[in-house]
Amino acid sequence: MKSVNPFMERRHRMVREQISGRGLRDPKVLDAMQRVAREAFVPEHLRDFAYADQPLPIGEGQTISQPYIVAAMTEALGLKGGENVLEIGTGSGYAAAVLAHIAREVHSVERIAELANRARKLLQLLGYHTVHVVEGDGSLGWPEAAPYDAIVVTAEGPRIPPSLRAQLKPGGRLVMPVSEGPFEQVLLRLTRSADDGDHVEKICPVRFVPLIGAEGWSPTERSHAEFSPAGQPSL
Ligand code: SAH
Repeated sequence: MKSVNPFMERRHRMVREQISGRGLRDPKVLDAMQRVAREAFVPEHLRDFAYADQPLPIGEGQTISQPYIVAAMTEALGLKGGENVLEIGTGSGYAAAVLAHIAREVHSVERIAELANRARKLLQLLGYHTVHVVEGDGSLGWPEAAPYDAIVVTAEGPRIPPSLRAQLKPGGRLVMPVSEGPFEQVLLRLTRSADDGDHVEKICPVRFVPLIGAEGWSPTERSHAEFSPAGQPSL
């Protein structure tokens, strides 16, 4: 039977070509990517590009990440189901919705009030009642709901914020893009050990908008990393 919703078809193709086609295999992640209606999280005039292999602007100088990056970061968190997860950088709310299909609770912090309010309303409307959006400086985490099994930061910082590491359970994973120079960023995964010896791995080079806050960049420090429509856009 022919699909009445053209977006469903595009979503299937996106998962096949961009996600499993590039080697991501976790069935829970593929299933979550298959379920979230990305078209609802992009601005109306960009809906036709909702399943394109790229980030898109969402206003306020911010972006919704490329689908593959959302899937890769989610897979890197190594979720089995039932976890308490913290996301820093709610943006559109899309990645939070993907996480909500796997985790028990998702706490998501956004510093721009307009984006936090918009994402909160949309996630409620779509029935994502296990996602809790809060407005604030996520570089300091969200101690109210800590400790977390996993933390994902969807903005790039100068280093892994000590406050975030402190809110991770022993054995918990933190995935975050970190600066490696003025124009280079790398996705890191930190696994917190029971003692002091954390394990840190490099996953891949990435490009994200800056994490602005007390344990991130100051607002003037990292302006060059913002979305550039002409060049390679930030994730
Ligand atoms: N996960 C998002 C992508 C977000 S882009 C999505 O799926 O759409 C990164 C977001 O991080 C932006 O919305 C930006 O405003 C936010 N951000 C930057 N610094 C922050 C901070 N210190 N605390 C919380 N959010 C921050």
